[in-house]
Amino acid sequence: MKINHNFFSISNKIDVVKYFCRQGNILPHLMDRIRWHVYPRFYVVSKFPTHIDIEVSSACNLRCPMCKSTEMRKTGIKFGKNMEWDLYRKIIDECSKSSLYSIKLSWRGEPLIHPKIVDMVRYAKDKKIKDVAFLTNGSMLDRYMNLELVNAGLDWVGVSFDGFKEDYERIRFPAKFEHTMDNVKDLRKCREYFNLKKPQIRIQSIQSVIEGREKEFLRLWEGIADKVYFIRDEKRTIDEKDYAYHDTSLVCPNPWQRLVVASDGTIPQCITDYTCGGVLGNANTQTISEIWHSTYFNILRRQMKEGDRLKRKPCRICEK
Ligand code: SF4
Repeated sequence: MKINHNFFSISNKIDVVKYFCRQGNILPHLMDRIRWHVYPRFYVVSKFPTHIDIEVSSACNLRCPMCKSTEMRKTGIKFGKNMEWDLYRKIIDECSKSSLYSIKLSWRGEPLIHPKIVDMVRYAKDKKIKDVAFLTNGSMLDRYMNLELVNAGLDWVGVSFDGFKEDYERIRFPAKFEHTMDNVKDLRKCREYFNLKKPQIRIQSIQSVIEGREKEFLRLWEGIADKVYFIRDEKRTIDEKDYAYHDTSLVCPNPWQRLVVASDGTIPQCITDYTCGGVLGNANTQTISEIWHSTYFNILRRQMKEGDRLKRKPCRICEK
């Protein structure tokens, strides 16, 4: 079984260890990593997912050509919704009473578009969720937002920042290279102003635009980012004919690790199911625990185990 096989740290090992220590919660974090890696191998269904991705907004201010959302918009699929506060609170209240370790407040959209994003971070931290983070394109991290996020207790932020100026501005259109970099630098300054270790800052780029220049990319972020990654380039189309090859022996670990809640409460089958083609439930009317142990989720797990995953459309438009 392949786990976390599509992203790789290019930071040196010492920085990776420092990052891990600064994140705190060392024992629960280690336990979380064990559950993440071991449970899928033995098909153990935990009482509650160890991680939940909560899409606080499916709207985005950029139109990146390699993003499935851009592709979906072209085909007329409509989305662009901010999650209702009551739904968010319902999810977090349940999470806070569970064995969950982490939440990420992003999925297909840009989380900073949600007008209550800071309150959402604060609420989750007040409810003692150990690891609260999100991925962002970084273009909206202005001084006010940075100060608020630092004070709300955000644990880490992942900034999708693809390559150097020319590639960046082509891919992350219409964001500007210097502007986004300055935003991230400012976040670091705000954190240091309050003498805090968090939010830790991760930078991630797709692999193709930094290939052979990894060290240069790492130097670009020296003193700003705490960890730098690259992500393997993946196809982002939603057309089955673009996915000719599938590893039919693969058992995907996702259904034993994590659960995703879309901004309207829909539960897709996994983080790759951008079109919500394999709906497993709805968080408005069901609890997370009910959904995690539901017949639909168990059918998905059984199909994985029995090598039948390609019966499911989302798996047929996934690079795994
Ligand atoms: S679409 Fe299928 S194979 Fe791909 S991540 Fe989701 S569950 Fe796994």
